[in-house]
Amino acid sequence: MTRLPCLFKSVTFALLLGVSAGTVPAGMAQAGMAATLVYTVRAGDTLYRIATERGLKPEDLLRLNGLASPTLSVGQTLKIPSGTPAPKAITAQPAAPVQPAQPVRLVQPVAPVQPVAPVQTVAPVQPVKPSPADVQPPRPPLPVVSVNPAPVTPKAAPNVIAGVTVRAPSRLKMGDAFVLRLSGEKAGTATVSFPSEVGEDVRKPAEALTPTGAAGEYVVLGRVVLGKTTPLRYSVTVGQDVFRGSIPVTGLDQPIQHLTLAKSLTDRLTAPNRPAEEKVVEAGYALRTPQAWVRPFAAPLSSTAVSSSFGQPRTYLAGGPVAYHYGMDFPAPVGTAVRAVNDGRVVIAGTYPVRGGLVAIDHGAGLLSLYFHQSSVLVKVGQTVKRGDVVGRVGTTGLSAGPHLHLEMRVRGEATLPTEYFNRLWP
Ligand SMILES: [Zn+2]
Repeated sequence: MTRLPCLFKSVTFALLLGVSAGTVPAGMAQAGMAATLVYTVRAGDTLYRIATERGLKPEDLLRLNGLASPTLSVGQTLKIPSGTPAPKAITAQPAAPVQPAQPVRLVQPVAPVQPVAPVQTVAPVQPVKPSPADVQPPRPPLPVVSVNPAPVTPKAAPNVIAGVTVRAPSRLKMGDAFVLRLSGEKAGTATVSFPSEVGEDVRKPAEALTPTGAAGEYVVLGRVVLGKTTPLRYSVTVGQDVFRGSIPVTGLDQPIQHLTLAKSLTDRLTAPNRPAEEKVVEAGYALRTPQAWVRPFAAPLSSTAVSSSFGQPRTYLAGGPVAYHYGMDFPAPVGTAVRAVNDGRVVIAGTYPVRGGLVAIDHGAGLLSLYFHQSSVLVKVGQTVKRGDVVGRVGTTGLSAGPHLHLEMRVRGEATLPTEYFNRLWP
């Protein structure tokens, strides 16, 4: 398949509309209803929320737990009546109930769950963000404890394997970048892969990844391929132990845009040096260097107005195939300074038929930022840049219909939503 900016992957319209709901394997759902549960209160929980997510009245929970006041404290345990349905939109895999003295060896979400005695089981999940249809009081803001001020997705309950705690987003959209966070003594020895990539249009599917150490935890960047709404599956291996998780994925719900480009532009697609252009970007996508950034990402232009959104499905010729837009377009006058979104090393700096004046920066950890259509390129291959350094000037070179910057953020070669990075240390 050819990989071109703005006309990359052919997809069917059905895929664009496809939405996969988060589901819980039947065995897990039954386990959640098998016995009286004990739920451990987390930061941000309210009695009202815990009750209503399970179809209970707050007063019932007060009575069952002998509470005089609905005020909860973090770490407090609450009994939940048996037969209570688990909260909706469960996406995390609860650890199978175990005896206290028994070490957890292998946690597999698909393993059949043994019936448990009606005493105490591990609280199955942390409540997750309700769907828009749910009518619930706003959740009080959590204290800011990390440099990421506003996570894109709510975090699911952690899962533990061989002493390593695994945290993953509870839901994702097509084209999202995200991080799996591992903590615990052996977190640095874990390997991570994404088995759901097998069969997807991914350059190196299910690659064995080594987490990057970052601020007391270890992280691995993941990404959701455009065109896929099947659940994203991940696998964390620590020694002999394997934890497997799954995250539901939704589509972007964008109507197809029909473009008709001038022949002078589409001729660029068959220019003689097109193979060389693809070769140089593929070499960039294959880089796996150490993480080079320590500060949050920044926007490449002072204005972040967008003229064409990421993941936009398009046709370029009447009746032609539908393709996705792999970057985000920021309109700006020709000559506007284009700045590096973060620290890294310049790996591409030149002019190409489709991408025009192109700069690519390798930020390490498999992350590449690419700046297209520039009127001038002001850096050289091999040069180290810092966040905010000027790398070129806005133009309309290559396959472009007007002055703008096309920015791509590629995770191990696959395109992710650029604005997810701005003002954050991690997407
Ligand atoms: Zn574009």
